[in-house]
Amino acid sequence: MTTPLYRRVLVKVSGEALMGPQGFGLHQPTVDRIAADLAATHALGIELAVVVGGGNIFRGVQVSSQGVDRATGDYMGMLATVMNALALAAAIMRQGTQARVLSALDMPAVAETYTRPRALAHLDRGRIVVFAAGTGNPFFTTDTAAALRAVETGCDALLKATNVDGIYSGDPKKDPTATRYERLSHDEVLQKDLKVMDAAAFALARENALPVIVFSIHEPGSIPAVVSGGGRATVVSS
Ligand code: UDP
Repeated sequence: MTTPLYRRVLVKVSGEALMGPQGFGLHQPTVDRIAADLAATHALGIELAVVVGGGNIFRGVQVSSQGVDRATGDYMGMLATVMNALALAAAIMRQGTQARVLSALDMPAVAETYTRPRALAHLDRGRIVVFAAGTGNPFFTTDTAAALRAVETGCDALLKATNVDGIYSGDPKKDPTATRYERLSHDEVLQKDLKVMDAAAFALARENALPVIVFSIHEPGSIPAVVSGGGRATVVSS
């Protein structure tokens, strides 16, 4: 096994990644596979934080289109991320690796409340930290939470797990001529108007020179491969 390139990384796992072949909710074999990948990454000696999304259960925008006000819909979305975080942390623990859920919304019976010192203490002690409830604020996304937590906790890179194996010049599912990039700078992503993360999340990554690595979550072993400099991924760095 090659030496890892990073000391501490944050992995963003979308809610949709957890629903596997289903159209909704949690697909336990998929959750277990992703947990195994995270445990294998941790076993390389890397300090690991995770931000999990909630799109497999609720998205504020969708709920608000049905008459619920946007902020309420977003709180429902944040609660969905808490369920996903509990499921993922439990699956990581079953792999024999210590994990803790830190929630941006205060719910002490369910999870520890996020504070930066608490997160740093868990990471220093070698526990995988799963951040739940996004940023704790409506009108944001878990991509923004991922960039924010990565910067706050001094991560060397943000690994964004997606449905495709990197950043393309267009949507590879719709445009057969779309080409894949190996490396890009943050400025090139903006100049070429490429879709990597939402604008707030990407601005935070760019301002803080945080490398963003985009790869496919569907490939088993992709997370440990990417942190070792292998695997198929696009690396965005300054
Ligand atoms: N959300 C929010 N604030 C945050 C993070 C998430 O309000 O800081 C809500 C928002 O409604 C979002 C939902 O939680 O649609 C689920 O998060 P996201 O859509 O980012 O999940 P993913 O696409 O990664 O599954």
